[in-house]
Amino acid sequence: MVVTVDGPGGAGKSTVSRALADRLGFAFLDTGALYRAVALAASWDQVEAVDPEAVAAWLPGVDIKAQPGPHSFQVLLQGRDVEPFIRNEHISQLASQLSSQPAVRTKLLELQRSAGRAGDLVAEGRDMGTVVFPDAEAKFFLTASQGERARRRWLELSQAGQQVEFDEVLADLEKRDQRDEERAISPLRPAADAEIVDTSHLSFGQVVEHLYQQVTRVRQGL
Ligand code: C5P
Repeated sequence: MVVTVDGPGGAGKSTVSRALADRLGFAFLDTGALYRAVALAASWDQVEAVDPEAVAAWLPGVDIKAQPGPHSFQVLLQGRDVEPFIRNEHISQLASQLSSQPAVRTKLLELQRSAGRAGDLVAEGRDMGTVVFPDAEAKFFLTASQGERARRRWLELSQAGQQVEFDEVLADLEKRDQRDEERAISPLRPAADAEIVDTSHLSFGQVVEHLYQQVTRVRQGL
């Protein structure tokens, strides 16, 4: 069974999806981490991220692998776990720029679908329910007000020891939201058959519980 969780940045998708996967005993696929890993590779190789031809010519040489597991998710770049290097604002912006390019989306599409063929999965991202897993059995779209999402992202970065101004985080989020929603290919939007969950006034535990109950109903054929 595949469960998809889409939504804008800072809506709580990652933490919720990870906890949901744990509770269900499913593997967890963090597709944002794949786009971030491509961004890290581009930054290492100094590729011009806004130049589609340069990106398309460079991409085949990028060795990227997803390893979804029951209690962990790893993205490997040239065989190396790059998680410690992909959670910062520079990589966030670069990933957002690169993700609008067809060559990047095509490269990651098959990687994501093969994770779905490997067994039960909770897949988190922007286009899981619309493009990557259109036949998923349960689909959710998590959202929250922009201010609340920026507050959560700021808290997350601060707790990770990064010194960032709230206004800067909010401005970056606005830029990414706009790019994700307006890109021509796989724009961020809820699938027609997704349940939209506004998490602005819900605790993390309440969101996980709600999704868990919904998936359980689907599994029981209710
Ligand atoms: O979710 P996260 O913030 O880690 O994603 C980083 C960027 O990757 C997003 O801003 C978005 O542009 C892109 N992305 C995407 N499609 C996905 C997952 C992420 O375009 N399925």
